[in-house]
Amino acid sequence: MSSARNGSGALLEMAPRIAGHPQLSGSKLAELEDAVLATRRFAVNTIRPRALEIDRVNYDEPGTIAWDIVREGGKIGLLNLVTPRASGGASDLACLRTALIAEEIAAGCAGFATLFGAHGLGASPLAMGGPAFWDGALKEAADSACDPKPQLMAFCITEPTAGTDVEHHVWMRTAKVVTRADKVKGGWELTGTKHFISNGNAATWLTVFMPTDPKRPYETLSAFLVDGRAKGLTVTNVEHKMGHRASPAAELSFDKVFVPDKNLIGREGDGMGLTIGVLAGSRPPVGAIGTGIARGAYERLLEWLQTDPAAEGLLDKQQVQLALAQMNEEIHLARQAYIDAATDFDTISIGGLTGTAAMRMLGKLPSGLRTNRLVRSQMQTSLGRGLVMEVMSRTVGNRALTRTLGLSSLAKARGSDTAMKVTGMALEVAGLDCGRLRPELEKCLRDAKLTQIYEGTNQLNRLEVFEGLVAEHTMSILPRPTVSNTNGASAAVA
Ligand SMILES: Cc1cc2nc3c(=O)[nH]c(=O)nc-3n(C[C@H](O)[C@H](O)[C@H](O)COP(=O)(O)OP(=O)(O)OC[C@H]3O[C@@H](n4cnc5c(N)ncnc54)[C@H](O)[C@@H]3O)c2cc1C
Repeated sequence: MSSARNGSGALLEMAPRIAGHPQLSGSKLAELEDAVLATRRFAVNTIRPRALEIDRVNYDEPGTIAWDIVREGGKIGLLNLVTPRASGGASDLACLRTALIAEEIAAGCAGFATLFGAHGLGASPLAMGGPAFWDGALKEAADSACDPKPQLMAFCITEPTAGTDVEHHVWMRTAKVVTRADKVKGGWELTGTKHFISNGNAATWLTVFMPTDPKRPYETLSAFLVDGRAKGLTVTNVEHKMGHRASPAAELSFDKVFVPDKNLIGREGDGMGLTIGVLAGSRPPVGAIGTGIARGAYERLLEWLQTDPAAEGLLDKQQVQLALAQMNEEIHLARQAYIDAATDFDTISIGGLTGTAAMRMLGKLPSGLRTNRLVRSQMQTSLGRGLVMEVMSRTVGNRALTRTLGLSSLAKARGSDTAMKVTGMALEVAGLDCGRLRPELEKCLRDAKLTQIYEGTNQLNRLEVFEGLVAEHTMSILPRPTVSNTNGASAAVA
């Protein structure tokens, strides 16, 4: 597991079972390995040497983005991990690819794994929203890698009064959501506050979730693509963070921010289904970030044990050997957990959607046709949006989704707990007098904690494991909610 290893076979060495992946053979496996190795080089040569400095800068001035590093990451494809292939992205097996890459970045600095991860999170509703959203903001962001400030995205569901609740299909029904989207001529007006939004102060595009009726948040939650430069959108705070400081978390105030009709992703009321779908695909990569933090601590400790005079003789002690063996074991198991979950997502569940006939057909439309005004306007109609959402809900059965959510949550909880455990063990082995290693391990420990909190706390995720993998009964996880139309009549939405 040497961090600087180059050459073929590194991926198989890390994760031997990848060889048995149903869709990874020959050139696809080689291409994925190239992507992982390019990210490893980026993490070792570009990110890691600057990690402590950037952490310190953001302690003094939260919200400072290292744009040069974002550019370098963009150049190796880290801004288009979820962009469908049809729009020049790399989204074949997007969840597995994103997760393996997240581990590599996090081993260098978890803050950058969160920065690129939050970008992918913001982009995911657009990828799932269908071809009408593949050629606009999504493509622009992916193409902006060489700009002085590449276009970052952010994903906004959390509110000061609603965090865990907005991530759960049952709790959402009674969540205290106070933001709202009001219908106005030609679009929507968004009002309220979102907080803890990663990349929030720097994002060019945001995917924002607000109910059209805050009294019925589950039924009416809707997703909007919002221009970060829109009138009425203000950054009201940037958090002073304990870890992951390279990625800012901001509070955003929406004061009647106008969003045109065409920027409604899916249909009114599709927000909860999209949220669950996005989180099912983003939790394995968060498990991978935890795995990467653990691996970063383990590799730093190993390096120190082998090179620092202060550590002389420690490697010969059985107590230290036992600790290293256990750390290795924890990392290996956490990695298997996220690979299993990501593989399930990509091949059996939501990610497999791109393989369905309807989505393949839509994806194969030439870009010119997808951006053609007439075709685009048809895709933007209720019928066009409905088609994509119908394909999604019909392809992914409730049982499959519940199981995928269970596996994703297992990977997330396992990876994040591994980060806490292994960084703690590394500190115990090294002790207080470990010189230059101390601030590095301290940072790993600070970084580990967030992985237990975001993307749903581990308590929430363990309940998803219960529902998806333990409970025997069939749960109707996403029943079709109803929204009232303007005449007051109720209509089913997907
Ligand atoms: C640095 C950072 C970055 C983030 N980035 C983003 C982002 O980019 N976009 C975004 O939308 N959000 C983001 N979040 C929000 C994050 O997902 C939430 O913080 C998380 O979901 C927890 O919500 P909360 O903080 O409101 O805690 P609460 O929901 O108030 O939970 C507090 C505690 O109560 C427990 N709890 C709550 N309800 C239940 C229940 N029903 N049963 C059992 N236990 C329960 C929780 O597990 C937790 O331990 C970020 C958060 C942080 C800290």
